[in-house]
Amino acid sequence: MKKKGNLALLWRTGRLSARLALMASDKTSPTDVSARYFAINGAQIEAKRPRGGLYLVATPIGNLGDITLRALEVLAGADVIACEDTRVTRRLTERYGIATPLTPYHEHNAAEARPRLLKRLSNCEAVALVSDAGTPLISDPGFKLVRAAREAGYAVNALPGPSALLAALSVAGLPTDRFFFEGFLPPKQAARQKRIAALVAIPATLVLYESGTRLAATLADLATGLGPRAAAICRELTKLHEEVRRDDLVSLARAYADGGETRGEIVIVVAPPAEQETQADDVDAMLRQALARVSVKDAVGEVALATGRSRREVYQRALELSRDDSDGTP
Ligand code: SAM
Repeated sequence: MKKKGNLALLWRTGRLSARLALMASDKTSPTDVSARYFAINGAQIEAKRPRGGLYLVATPIGNLGDITLRALEVLAGADVIACEDTRVTRRLTERYGIATPLTPYHEHNAAEARPRLLKRLSNCEAVALVSDAGTPLISDPGFKLVRAAREAGYAVNALPGPSALLAALSVAGLPTDRFFFEGFLPPKQAARQKRIAALVAIPATLVLYESGTRLAATLADLATGLGPRAAAICRELTKLHEEVRRDDLVSLARAYADGGETRGEIVIVVAPPAEQETQADDVDAMLRQALARVSVKDAVGEVALATGRSRREVYQRALELSRDDSDGTP
């Protein structure tokens, strides 16, 4: 109740002076439970120290205003914030007058940093994990830490919030009832094309992360592998130069090959396959089952009869499947 009272008072009094926000940043000791604060527009708000455990805190993907009150409270109240890049996270903590110590946790130091964080959890400390932007663990570090924390029996708490995945899906104007999150495709072309071939028949909207430097090459491979499906390039979401460009994959590939703007952070959203493509996938599944039981000739006869397709077309597909299977292509 006392905290609520404080909060209401602070809001009523409006902006406190910058001096107060500075006072908040004087809190440095992880064992000092008496003075943990965050500040919004100069109004200083006390944060309770959360119970010991791991807190997975989503942070903004561009616009620093996109942070929840609970995230601020936990970041301000935690004993330590584990983050990918302390310079990036400091921009957020400074914006909100948070003085919790930062410690790096990224893919290059995770093996050494993880035991130290687990040790802190064993001492009942509150450890917040953030990534540079968005939700930790989503194409970002944290999975092994969460798994180890769970295995050791420590509390693991999610503080949901921004993620480029959901922001892009919600603005793309493509079906949202079922989606498949691919994350980053492999950077090397052969591996990327192989992965795209595995995505062809997935009956869902596809969401992919990509960097500006690879966008044109990735779009070219997506257009070749998936054909002219509708797609959206969602760039710099929530930022000043936010842009959502909609077209079919073939036109988008052409546009970006010709020098479309690729600066910044990008999510590619691709419409699900048309009904026809899903049926082609069904034919493959039926053929594979039949080929496991009977001769090629009989399998082709069975599947042609069941699907109403010509024996010639089904025979052709059977040959392709056996070729793919023998060279390991999915
Ligand atoms: N964990 C983050 C999340 O929940 O969105 C994703 C981290 S991943 C390393 C970074 C990728 O997310 C970028 O390469 C880009 O594909 C996407 N991304 C992040 N911020 C974005 C933004 N503001 N607009 C578009 N895409 C963004």
